[in-house]
Amino acid sequence: MQELADSYTHCPSCGSTDFTHLPQHQRACKDCGHRDFNNPITGVAVLVLADDGEMCWIRRGRNPGKGKLGMPGGFVDAGESLEQAAIREVQEETGLQITNLRYLCSFPNAYIYNGHPRPVCDAFFIAYSDDKSVRPLEGEVQACFWQSPESVVPQDLAFDSMRFALKCFLCGDSEK
Ligand SMILES: [Zn+2]
Repeated sequence: MQELADSYTHCPSCGSTDFTHLPQHQRACKDCGHRDFNNPITGVAVLVLADDGEMCWIRRGRNPGKGKLGMPGGFVDAGESLEQAAIREVQEETGLQITNLRYLCSFPNAYIYNGHPRPVCDAFFIAYSDDKSVRPLEGEVQACFWQSPESVVPQDLAFDSMRFALKCFLCGDSEK
């Protein structure tokens, strides 16, 4: 599948059609010198734990990965830190207020947007919630539930990045 940045026919800065492919999906405009680096979008997801050791899971309501499992999360907004995005996304998708947020690991991902894959880098955090009552975000989340991380089948997760994060959590190893 063609990367979204590779599908552009015109320079996004000056509109020239002389927009040349470079290695690693970079593009450069021969008329104005504009360069498109196609850097990854930043995503965050949180492994939210309750006092009893169970983890909060969502069943995704939209593609990619509709119907598959995942940790609550999403894309970082402009002007936001990773931590702020993590707290906001968990609150929006599950209604949970998390505490003691700490970094776990990161992993590259790809997100199909408008039929084209966009490179993503997902950052994973661990956090805690005193309250297990969840309110899944209508449309985006089919269901939200608690289950022990050991009993979740990795193949049921939506992305490789989530399988990696679950493995990091269970094995305590974030080095690839
Ligand atoms: Zn240009």
